[in-house]
Amino acid sequence: MSYQALARKWRPRRFTELVGQEHVVRALAHALDSGRLHHAFLFTGTRGVGKTTIARIFAKSLNCEKGPTSNPCGECGACREIDAGRFVDLLEIDAASNTGIDNVRELIDNAQYAPTRGRHKVYLIDEVHMLSKSAFNALLKTLEEPPPHVKFLLATTDPQKLPVTVLSRCIKFNLKRLTPEQIVGQMRAILGAETIAFEDEAVDVLARAADGSLRDGLSLLDQAIAHGGGKLVASDVHAMLGTVERAKVQRLIDILAAGDGAALLDEIERIASFAPDFAQVLDELASLLHRIQLLQLVPAAAGEDDAALLGLAGRLEAEDVQLWYQMAVAGRRDLAIAPTPRVGFEMALLRMLAFVPMSADAAAPTRARPSAQEPKPAPVRG
Ligand SMILES: [Zn+2]
Repeated sequence: MSYQALARKWRPRRFTELVGQEHVVRALAHALDSGRLHHAFLFTGTRGVGKTTIARIFAKSLNCEKGPTSNPCGECGACREIDAGRFVDLLEIDAASNTGIDNVRELIDNAQYAPTRGRHKVYLIDEVHMLSKSAFNALLKTLEEPPPHVKFLLATTDPQKLPVTVLSRCIKFNLKRLTPEQIVGQMRAILGAETIAFEDEAVDVLARAADGSLRDGLSLLDQAIAHGGGKLVASDVHAMLGTVERAKVQRLIDILAAGDGAALLDEIERIASFAPDFAQVLDELASLLHRIQLLQLVPAAAGEDDAALLGLAGRLEAEDVQLWYQMAVAGRRDLAIAPTPRVGFEMALLRMLAFVPMSADAAAPTRARPSAQEPKPAPVRG
C-alpha cells in the first residue's frame, strides 16, 4: 500500500471544500451560473494557496456533463477524468518546467480546433510568466481572437513579469495567503478524518511554520506524522522544525515575573543547548505575552483555560506585559545586528529583567505607582 501525500489526498474537488479564497469562488460561481464567462482568467498569489486547485475545479465546472455549473457533479465521465488528470480537453502546462519547448507553442496554436470530448477546451498554464517567447506570442494571438470554445486559466506567483498585453486580456483574481487559523482548521479536520491523535500545540506550530501556504503546511504535517510514528506530538514537531516548546518559553516569563536573574541565565543556557531559531523563540514569547494581555484586559475574547497562563495574567501588571511585548518584538528585529543571535536573545530578556517591578514578592505591592489621590513627595533638594 503506497502512502499518498495529505496535500494530494485532501485536495478539494469542489468549490465548497476550498479553504479560504471565498472572494474568488463567489465571483467564479456567479460567472458560471449566470453563463457570462470571460475567456481568460488569471490567478495570482503565493505558492500553495489554491491557484491550480481552483483552476481544476473551474475546468470541471465548465465541462461537467450536468453543467456548466458552479457545483460539478463529480461523477460524470468529464468530472472523473479531470479528477484523475486524464481529460483530453484539459491541457495542463507547467511553464516552469516547459520553457522553450516548442510543443507548448504548438499546443496553444491548436486552440482553434474544437474540443474532442468536452464543451470547452481548457488551458491551465501554471507559472505562466515563465513561458518562452514563442509560446507567449502564440498565447497572445489566441487571447486576441479567442475561439468561443476555449478558456484560458493562467496561474502565476509573479504577475509583474507578465506582459501588459496578456494582463489586460484576463480577469484577475488575487488569492490570499491563508491565516494560521484557516490552516489549523484544515489540519484538524484532516487529522480527525485520518484518526491521527494530535496535540494542539503541535498543530499550532505547524500551521505557523506553513507561512500562509496550505500545501506547505500539509507537507510539514506529513513529515511530522512520519517523525512521530503515526501521531502528532508537540516535542517531535519542535525537534523537527528546530523550534522551542511553548512550556519552555512560558517558563522564561515565570522566571522574569519572579525577577530571578540567575534562574533566567540557566534557562537561557538550557534553551540555547537546542540550538534553536532564536527569532522563533522571541515570536513565541511575544505571542504568549499577547495571550496573557488578552486574559488581563478582555478575558472574554481570550477563551483560555490554561491555568499557568491565568496565573501569570494575575501576577503581572498589564503595563509590564505591554513593555515586555515591545521588547520581544524589538529584540527579534535586532537579532540580525546583534554580535550573535544568542547574545541578542539574552540581551532582550535581560532588558525585560531590568524592567521587572522592584518588588517581585507576591505579598508585597508591586511597583510603587504615584496615584492621583496621594500627594507626590516633594523633590529632595540638596
Ligand atoms: Zn460532472
